[in-house]
Amino acid sequence: MKNAGKGSRSSSRAHRPSRQILTDGAYETIKELVMDNQLEPGERINIEELARQLEISTTPVREALARLESDGLIRKRALTGYAVAPLLDLASLGHLFEIRHLLEPHAAAKAAKLANDLELANLREMVELMRADDIGDAYGHYRAFAAHDTEFHALIARYSGNPVLEQTLAGLHFQWHLYRLRFEPEVGLDTIAEHANIATAILQRDAAAAAEAMREHLRQSEQRLLPVAQGGAQGFKRDRGSGDTAR
Ligand SMILES: [Zn+2]
Repeated sequence: MKNAGKGSRSSSRAHRPSRQILTDGAYETIKELVMDNQLEPGERINIEELARQLEISTTPVREALARLESDGLIRKRALTGYAVAPLLDLASLGHLFEIRHLLEPHAAAKAAKLANDLELANLREMVELMRADDIGDAYGHYRAFAAHDTEFHALIARYSGNPVLEQTLAGLHFQWHLYRLRFEPEVGLDTIAEHANIATAILQRDAAAAAEAMREHLRQSEQRLLPVAQGGAQGFKRDRGSGDTAR
C-alpha cells in the first residue's frame, strides 16, 4: 500500500470546483471503473491512490464511494475498508429474478389499471428514449440506456400505486448489477422490443397482457444473463475481452 501524503492535497483548495460537481464527477468516474471491470470484482479500493488518479482530494472520493455503497456496487468492511462488490453468481442471480418475478408482473398489471394518461405517456416516452440511446458495450456508451431501463421499471412500480412495492424494487438496485454482468448491443435491441410489448399492453389497459409481457421480459433477461453468471468472474472477463473486438 502506498502512503501518499494526505497533507499534499490540501494545496488544491485554492481553485476548486463546487463540492457537488466534484462528488458527482467522482461518482460517475468510479462507477465507470466498476461497471467496465477496470476496478475488478472483489478488488480492495485504495482511497488515496484513487484520489491521486482522479486528481481530486479524498473527500469527494469518500462521498462517491458512500453513494456507490448504497447502490450495492461497493462494499465496506470493518477492518479492510472499501472493496468492489463481487459479480452476481448463479445463486444470487436466481434469487434476484425470483423476487422480480413475484413483484414486477403484478406491478405491470396494476399499472395497466391505475396509470393516468400522463403516466401512460411517460412510459411510452421512456421506450422512445431507449430507442434513441447509444448502445455500445462499455459503460460510457450505455449509461443513458441503462438509466432509462432502470427508470422504465421504476415508473411501472410507481404506477402500481403501492409505495412499498416501489421502494422494495428500488432497494434491490438490480439494474447496475445486471449490466455489470453483461451488456452488448443485441441485448439492448431485445430489451427495447420487450419493453415496447410491456408498454403497449399497459397503454391498452390490458392487465393480463401487461403481466405476461413483464414475465416474458424477465424470463428473457434471466436467460441472457445465466451463461455469464455460470462462468463467474472468469467467464465475465473472457466474455468482455472477446466482446471488445465486436463493436
Ligand atoms: Zn427491462
